[in-house]
Amino acid sequence: MKIYNTLSRTIEEFVPIDGKNVKMYTCGPTVYSYAHIGNMRNYIGHDILEKSLRYLGFSVTRCMNITDVGHLTSDSDSGEDKMEKAAKKEHKTSMEIADFYTKAFFEDFKLINCKVPEIVSKATDNIDFYLKIISKLLDEGYAYQSGGNVYFDTSKLNDYYCLTNHREDEMVVGARDSVEEDNNKKNQADFVLWFTSSKFANHELLWDSPYGRGYPGWHIECTGISIKYLGDYLDIHGGGVDNIFPHHTNEIAQSEAYLGHKWCNYWFHNEHLLDSSGKMSKSKGAVLSVSKLKEMGYNPLSYRFMCLNSHYRKQLMFSYDILKQNSDILDKLKSKISNISNDGNFSKEDFDNYNNKFISTIEDDLNTSNALTVLYDVIKDNSISGNTKISLIKSFDKVFSLDLFKNDSDINISSELESYVLNKIEERNKFKSLKDYSSADKIRDELLEKGIKLIDSREGTKYEII
Ligand SMILES: [Zn+2]
Repeated sequence: MKIYNTLSRTIEEFVPIDGKNVKMYTCGPTVYSYAHIGNMRNYIGHDILEKSLRYLGFSVTRCMNITDVGHLTSDSDSGEDKMEKAAKKEHKTSMEIADFYTKAFFEDFKLINCKVPEIVSKATDNIDFYLKIISKLLDEGYAYQSGGNVYFDTSKLNDYYCLTNHREDEMVVGARDSVEEDNNKKNQADFVLWFTSSKFANHELLWDSPYGRGYPGWHIECTGISIKYLGDYLDIHGGGVDNIFPHHTNEIAQSEAYLGHKWCNYWFHNEHLLDSSGKMSKSKGAVLSVSKLKEMGYNPLSYRFMCLNSHYRKQLMFSYDILKQNSDILDKLKSKISNISNDGNFSKEDFDNYNNKFISTIEDDLNTSNALTVLYDVIKDNSISGNTKISLIKSFDKVFSLDLFKNDSDINISSELESYVLNKIEERNKFKSLKDYSSADKIRDELLEKGIKLIDSREGTKYEII
């Protein structure tokens, strides 16, 4: 398989250290808010990478973190902890915020058919391990204590900027946006491993450490979780392009200083999702989440389909029109697939022919839009049997995960919606039994406004999504 490696800035043959066993790490969400669909593009990219590797016969162990402490409002260690800020705003504790948004994240994750990684670990569950790393970095002169915090000394590395193509002065300017000068740092690029002094008093989550009661920096958690669960060598690490600097640059710095050798061979980065005003982000106000799209009546998988139609290394433009077009194409595609009759004999030759074409597209730096073209070619090829077509489509869908054989009514009606409608029907029946027909009709009209039509029959009341 050929994959673009941000570290070498070239497309390379992917060769895991241990033959067919891949160790994969992907940065997870900071659970202070709902994840917007731009974040979810990232996770779709990681999911496609993992499933493609599995399709190609690799065995994958994947780990993802959940950031529930230490990620400040600026990625460059300044500002307030995002979790604490959200907790204050919502009058909850940080842990309540983390639990709530972690649950919401995985609900959205599943709506777009992303597979949950084998190992998911919260930042707050691994504090001892970060302290072990920090202690070694201090012992070996890669870190220093200053003004109450522990910093990583970037000047101790020959090539701190190995992951970026920029000169040092450019990177500092690039990271400057909301960064305030930190006079405790020896070099401007140095970053915090452990905070004990924060200008935001009463930080809720604090742990004892040899450097004082405090909390970890954001970058140390990915190094810690990855090494703790996947070992000293990592094959591939994923994230969004905005993680390249400073987050992944800092992860490499501290991991390799701690381990004393190269840590991760391949770096995989997804491009941004844009809307008409630029990069989609949480800070722009209301969060457009996958659940929100679903509430608005879109099949969440049409968003996944939209992402697959583009290359993960290209910026992707989002608008409701584009989503609607993708949704219509996916509906047509599924209707064509549902019309394929399972007849004729299975032909291994035809299967292998198309399967090899499919494999060559995903081996080509995950060219999912070409992979979809192979799917269209299979559907319209009248020279192959229905049986072979169905086998091929089922096989491709292991990577696409578009539920190509699932009936849409199964997808669109969630269990919550169903119990909501059934409760309303029961309420309406009570009014009817009390002969309060105007209240009963009010419920019927309310549901109709929401696109749910009630149908009374001798067997009882049924409903239909219109
Ligand atoms: Zn990370």
